Amino acid sequence: MNDRKSYRPNRQDASQPKPPSAVRSASRGAAIRAQKRSQEDAHRIANQYATAPHPAQAPKRANVIDDRPRLKIIGLGGMDGGGSKNTILVEYMNDAIILDAGNDLGVDLPGINYGIADMAYLETIKPKLRAYIITHGHLDHIGALPHIVPRFPAPIYGSKFTIGRIEEIFHNFGLPMPDGFELKTVTMNENTHERLKIGPFMVELVRVTHSIPGSTMVVVDTPVGRVINTGDFRLDPNPLDHERTDTERLKQLADEGVLILLSESTTTERLGRTPSESTIEQSFIDIMDNAPGRIFVGLFSTNMNRVQMIVNAAVHHSKKVAMDGRSMVSTLEMAVRNGFVRVPKGTFVPIANVSNLKDSDIVVVATGSQGEPSSALVRMSMGDHKHIKLKEQDTVILSSTPIPESGNDALIGNMVDDLMRKGVHVFRHETHQIDGVGPLHVSGHASVDEYKDIIDMLHPKFFVPIYGSYRSKQRHIEIAVEQGIPRKDTVNAENGDVISFTPNSMEITGKVPHGTVLVDQTGAIVSNIVIKDRIILAEEGLVAVILTIDKKTGNLLTSPDIISRGFIYMRDNEELMNAFRIELRRAVTQRYKRVDLDRFKQELREHVTHFLFEQTQRSPIVIPVVNVIGGKGGEKPLTNNGDTNGKTKPEETEELQRRFQQMRAKLLNQDARID
Ligand SMILES: [Zn+2]
Repeated sequence: MNDRKSYRPNRQDASQPKPPSAVRSASRGAAIRAQKRSQEDAHRIANQYATAPHPAQAPKRANVIDDRPRLKIIGLGGMDGGGSKNTILVEYMNDAIILDAGNDLGVDLPGINYGIADMAYLETIKPKLRAYIITHGHLDHIGALPHIVPRFPAPIYGSKFTIGRIEEIFHNFGLPMPDGFELKTVTMNENTHERLKIGPFMVELVRVTHSIPGSTMVVVDTPVGRVINTGDFRLDPNPLDHERTDTERLKQLADEGVLILLSESTTTERLGRTPSESTIEQSFIDIMDNAPGRIFVGLFSTNMNRVQMIVNAAVHHSKKVAMDGRSMVSTLEMAVRNGFVRVPKGTFVPIANVSNLKDSDIVVVATGSQGEPSSALVRMSMGDHKHIKLKEQDTVILSSTPIPESGNDALIGNMVDDLMRKGVHVFRHETHQIDGVGPLHVSGHASVDEYKDIIDMLHPKFFVPIYGSYRSKQRHIEIAVEQGIPRKDTVNAENGDVISFTPNSMEITGKVPHGTVLVDQTGAIVSNIVIKDRIILAEEGLVAVILTIDKKTGNLLTSPDIISRGFIYMRDNEELMNAFRIELRRAVTQRYKRVDLDRFKQELREHVTHFLFEQTQRSPIVIPVVNVIGGKGGEKPLTNNGDTNGKTKPEETEELQRRFQQMRAKLLNQDARID
């Protein structure tokens, strides 16, 4: 999916700090430079996913009449890697539509679930937006809709299965929708070549094969010419649901003329043709014929045609089927309700009942084919599953391969190791030949010959590769040139590029604000600043020093409290901690009475940062907390040595001191790592 930089530390020396005596003295400058460096690193890593510039800095175009008869196509996402927040805007004068609005699940930042395209540009043309047209129901094409549509309301168009998926993700979305928001969807029939007028555009969906039912190309006839977005596709001659790509219709559309082809580029480096989905059917029948006990199958939760194939094979072998994993069950319910998966009565059993049935009667279809940490299969492999305890004689089939460049290989490897430790028989696609069975997975994406076929079939005037890394889009351009498209009529555009078209010309005429908005597990947006702090915390840790100072004398009332997280284990570093306390005492004695509290805290932070770097070569986040306790003067105690309004009675001072001591005790008790 992505080959971005990870936030995970790549430290050469992560060993324990050297004892103070062994440390050469580092200059103050070195300490400051080190801290700056770790901040810059965090900045750089977090900025791979920076949001667009603030609207105040962005060019404002709202409500300006656009009378240039040019068609503009802008990738707000999806021009920078497969599976990446695919969001393409089609804009003509005073109307615009959005083709797909997906999320990027490949974001590797602490606490982040996915990214979505920044909609700063859409904000500036909001009144133009007429519709969202969706190619298919994978999350990287629909996952941003619950975030974006409430802010920019417009009806969502798609095939029946796609609309079913969209309703499903809105239903399962973690956050409430704004008051008065109503989800408006329009189901289009991709089999009857239904055409709908949306503003100045005529829109049609054309059936294609991929790895989810209801996948379509989107045809948009504009006043400038015809645009076709392939969505994700392959040209499977024999799909499991027998719904082949509607090449007849594509040829008719091509005969009428195609101005622009936006073609998916995920796997343009794979030669030949992707094998048909039907080639894996016999492998499942063979394994079911021979498996001694229960059978567990891991696959992508939306691959309903494959679920149907497994159900058919199970029924053929008189086995029952249980489904496991929330996303799998949710999509299956929708698919059954809409008639995309047909299951004979009595075939499905709840996962909780599996242990009551004979082992040879059971097939479990589960999430976890990518080794996702909380998925059903991983929980089983770790012995943490509520209903399933794996045993020897069980068979696990992984009907998938790792998503390229996702980093999932290691997760899957660990899961397979755990499964094998339990004596389970594991079949993987990668080792199917060694295991003496047929293929267990085929890709949902095309290979080079299929990409060629689409270019030949549609012979567009202009060719724009989309949905892929720069290199796979560049490869796609080479394929197009080989198929006879002049190189000048192709462009490898990036996110934010405005590609402007007339019937005879294509050029990049500008750049609009674009970027990534980060979303956490709850569905909430997370600020880039928070991410930068998290990266520094992850890399360097945190040290808080708590000083309790007598207001009158300026002396420390207690020994300084030091709390650290993710920095060093303090109990193993007593010598350092003792030296640290001496430094803190010295700082209080020398500076506290000479400067105001804010300045003192600032100096303390710098001094501690310098000291810790000198001692450990690390630069944690330092948080100084200074509690000033009122003396005989009886002024308001706690956290401030400045002016206070009104006098505090001695008993109130005592009460506050007592509360502070309690708070301190509580804080220290919570922390097993303080000394
Ligand atoms: Zn897809």
